[in-house]
Amino acid sequence: MEIQELNKQIRNESTEKIKSKVPEQVSTSWYNEDLLYSGKGKSLFIILATEGCSWALGPSGGCTMCSYINDCTQEPVEASKIVELFKSELEKHPYKEDFKSKDKIAIKIFASGSFLNPKEVPKEARDEILKILSESEEISEIVVESRPEYVKEDVIKEVFNIIDDKLFEISMGLETSNDKTRLYNINKGFTLKDFENAVQIIKKMKDKGFNIKSKAYIFLKPILLSERESIEEAIETGKYCQKTGVDRLSYCPATIHGGTLIERLWRENAYNPPWIWSAVEVINCIRDELIIPSLMDTSAFGSRRGPYNCKKCNKDLKHLIIKTNLSQEKINYECQCKNEWIAEVKSGDFNYSKTKINHLPLY
Ligand code: SF4
Ligand SMILES: [Zn+2]
Repeated sequence: MEIQELNKQIRNESTEKIKSKVPEQVSTSWYNEDLLYSGKGKSLFIILATEGCSWALGPSGGCTMCSYINDCTQEPVEASKIVELFKSELEKHPYKEDFKSKDKIAIKIFASGSFLNPKEVPKEARDEILKILSESEEISEIVVESRPEYVKEDVIKEVFNIIDDKLFEISMGLETSNDKTRLYNINKGFTLKDFENAVQIIKKMKDKGFNIKSKAYIFLKPILLSERESIEEAIETGKYCQKTGVDRLSYCPATIHGGTLIERLWRENAYNPPWIWSAVEVINCIRDELIIPSLMDTSAFGSRRGPYNCKKCNKDLKHLIIKTNLSQEKINYECQCKNEWIAEVKSGDFNYSKTKINHLPLY
């Protein structure tokens, strides 16, 4: 069966099984220390109540590793509802007090898809949310996520008409600079050219004086890549992003989301999330070779469905990575399990076929 077909089938089965959510169940938020463009500060993370990613809801079935759609309503949400819930999440956190004590504050708005796609976040809701943020003296940086096809000059102008000179970052899930891996293994549905066009639009707006930045998400260990290949691709992708003019990077080591193709392979013992050592290797290389800031996500580290080393070092390394995300330093740490990782990196793809895999014997 074609990877894409199987992906769609698994998506359909999982969305049929999962009960649809009401907007109140979707919207949530948290508040953390974070690295801002202006240095160390605090970030508010708010998940908007949306119908979910159009790419995942459409005939493609979405990306092979992502189940965010299962946490969305999968039905249009009124703009007024999205804004009402956004406001109530905003009020839950002590960012105003922290600002008074001289902390810098950023907000990261997650639409579980594309903030700039009016189908997912109606323009009315987008404008109202940006208006609320433009009136907040505390929040200086606004970060949103979008697929590259929604990054358009007129849309960005509409955004800046509201937010004026606040910093606005658009984060895009490039995942890898390898078109084959992105299109086939991840089923991302856009090419490197599409990503480059979006980065060029952002750079052009920056040259015109808009306070705009771009960020790329890079996925560590897509399906059907060995540990070694996934490390190499992640590092290559970081270098490519810097060369293309991306302002910062966020690495996302694979975790096993329910109801996805990645989960199916994992259950068949045909896939494992990366070692935490692989994440460390990527960070240390990138910090040596790149000047743009790079963050490493530590979600599900040390858990059954996440990146894993050994019981002795999982937690230590997770905390070290969080610490070095803020300091942008390298990681210096040793544990006995590192030898197992080295063995896997050196010989894990020893018998690897060079034939491109389009079909999976999983049906
Ligand atoms: S990774 Fe992004 S584009 Fe892909 S299905 Fe998930 S939300 Fe949509
Ligand atoms: Zn260990």
